Amino acid sequence: MLVDPHGRVVRDLRISVTDRCNFRCTYCMPAEGMTWLPRDQVLTFEEIERVARVCVERFGFESIRITGGEPTVRAHLPVLVEKLAALGVDLAMTTNGIKLPEVAADLRAAGLRRVNVSLDSLRPERFTQLTRRDAVDAVVAGIDAAVAAGFDPVKVNVVVMRGVNDDEVVELATFARERGVEARFIEFMPLDADEAWSAEKVVPAAEIVAAIAGVYPVETVSQGSEPATRYRYVDGRGAFGVIASVTAPFCGACDRVRLTAEGKFRNCLFAVEETDLRALLRGGADDEALAAAVAADVGGKWAGHSIGQVRFVRPARSMSQIGG
Ligand code: SAM
Ligand code: SF4
Repeated sequence: MLVDPHGRVVRDLRISVTDRCNFRCTYCMPAEGMTWLPRDQVLTFEEIERVARVCVERFGFESIRITGGEPTVRAHLPVLVEKLAALGVDLAMTTNGIKLPEVAADLRAAGLRRVNVSLDSLRPERFTQLTRRDAVDAVVAGIDAAVAAGFDPVKVNVVVMRGVNDDEVVELATFARERGVEARFIEFMPLDADEAWSAEKVVPAAEIVAAIAGVYPVETVSQGSEPATRYRYVDGRGAFGVIASVTAPFCGACDRVRLTAEGKFRNCLFAVEETDLRALLRGGADDEALAAAVAADVGGKWAGHSIGQVRFVRPARSMSQIGG
């Protein structure tokens, strides 16, 4: 087991497979001017698999999530999924959904079990403003394709922002209920490349829950190590979750670490320091040395981020470069 200095057991690895994306969400990327990593700096599938295998075999990691950038823009993704599925972990992916109609069946067949699809608005004009792509219908088709391919559960990630889409919370909850998928409302975090985040733009999770509970009676579902607090609709039509990353951080129960597309290991979304595993991988390090580097990084994991406090330091990377 890998235990951090605050007694938390690390069990979950988030792997960014690319820093590239076919969207430009305002809360994540700038409209223009992203410079992508050169191909040779991005970890190969074999290198990713090796880090994952060390985490699973040496430290008993139980779950892996594939993310990005947009993971589905990486060529031959099912090949990686197959390699990671062979490790016997709970394997999930977060995607913007646009390519799911094409790739969902292959990913499912390769062993991916669960997907989260991001959808912040159902209104075409607003969706286009938010993602800088006219693609709401394509993303809804992607959600339907994920359900049809047999992913279970399919979740819909919604970043809620004051004055942007906070009036759509109930509509999005209804959309998810009706499709038999689970909405996950996420508080806006200061990881946008445009640096437009401010505390006033955060819609507190409590407000989101109150809006939905005002229309559909709900009851709390007990919380495990997952960051979301879940609520069940009392009429039996599923559940939704809220992730209060800013107003009530889940740091105390955090069990995750991250690997960026170019092989930097991070012990927190908001970490300001990283460990270069690619240098070790390409320098001929054995599994022992890789495991030692992972353990040393986790040994420096802090108790929690300090968004909203004076000592908070924004990470140099934005969300798409870390891997959300
Ligand atoms: N491209 C994929 C997608 O959009 O689902 C995966 C990567 S994306 C960085 C992962 C998740 O982070 C998405 O659900 C996205 O909405 C969320 N996200 C991005 N920027 C965020 C921010 N500033 N605050 C909160 N969530 C954010
Ligand atoms: Fe791309 Fe996902 Fe970032 Fe949107 S949130 S720009 S889809 S990486």
